[in-house]
Amino acid sequence: MTIIAFIGLGNMGIGMASNLAKAGHDVRALDISSEAVARAVEAGCRAAKDTREAVSEADVVISMLPAGKHVRMVYEDDGGVFDNSRSGTLFVDCSTIDVATARAVISAAEHKGFAMIDAPVSGGVGGAAAGTLTFMCGGQKEAFERAKLLLDIMGKNVFHAGDAGNGQVAKIANNMLLGIHMIGTCEAFNLAERLGLDAQTFYDISSTASGQNWSMTSYCPAPGPLPSAPSNNGYKPGFSTAMMLKDLRLAQEAATTARAATPLGTQAEALYSLMESMGKDDLDFSGIMKLINGSI
Ligand code: NAD
Repeated sequence: MTIIAFIGLGNMGIGMASNLAKAGHDVRALDISSEAVARAVEAGCRAAKDTREAVSEADVVISMLPAGKHVRMVYEDDGGVFDNSRSGTLFVDCSTIDVATARAVISAAEHKGFAMIDAPVSGGVGGAAAGTLTFMCGGQKEAFERAKLLLDIMGKNVFHAGDAGNGQVAKIANNMLLGIHMIGTCEAFNLAERLGLDAQTFYDISSTASGQNWSMTSYCPAPGPLPSAPSNNGYKPGFSTAMMLKDLRLAQEAATTARAATPLGTQAEALYSLMESMGKDDLDFSGIMKLINGSI
């Protein structure tokens, strides 16, 4: 049994922490929301009243927080995780955050003698609850191997992507591609329909031809062809436009720093920003179909 401090028990963290508790680990739950901690206790975790109580005996600290500034605060602030952890504790940050912050916090941890990896996920709230997440990890191989024993409980695909921050790189590059091919898929369905070709017929042809892609065959943005897709449920998420926009913004920030040209990533961010400014960022990200076909 491993003693795990789990920090950040929101939509994602609650499912992940529950699966660790179900597997027999001693999970100490910390969140600024008392409701979140109460839900974790119901799921078999122990409530921690502060950082010291959560981490001081922990073998592993796992965090699942909204953004880079929260990760910095939780680990680096006076009285934070670094100050209260015993030597040998492994830190695993599963939050999706900017690459620069991920690298800076891991470097600060290593300077203090701790091992730390970034381990952002894909698979959403359903994957977190079902224990089927994909983890994309960056950091030292030995730290990754130690973390993998726990990540395997919370996920079904666990990748080591290389050095610190490379998990975040994999995540934002993948999600930038997802945003781009979702928009392209919407354009293709809209064009076909405007020219008199119905969605099902276009789907039957394109899904077996060279236009085939994940947005089409697993998440079809045009209502009809895929009954389980959010497009058949009023574009209820799923993976929200707000979440997609967060990842596209992280990708653009990193692309600027790296001087990587991402003209289609820039366009994708602009279009999802438009959804946000129209107050539609609570729709599933496939809801961008409504912007493309003019039905918003
Ligand atoms: P969430 O807002 O539901 O949960 C975040 C939790 O962190 C909240 O319970 C909040 O109270 C807590 N928190 C914030 N500051 C804290 C602090 N200083 N100390 C302790 N707790 C604190 O967010 P979420 O949907 O669970 O997402 C978490 C992370 O996972 C994000 O980085 C997100 O981008 C990423 N992610 C989310 C999804 C998804 O579908 N929701 C999918 C993949 C990745």
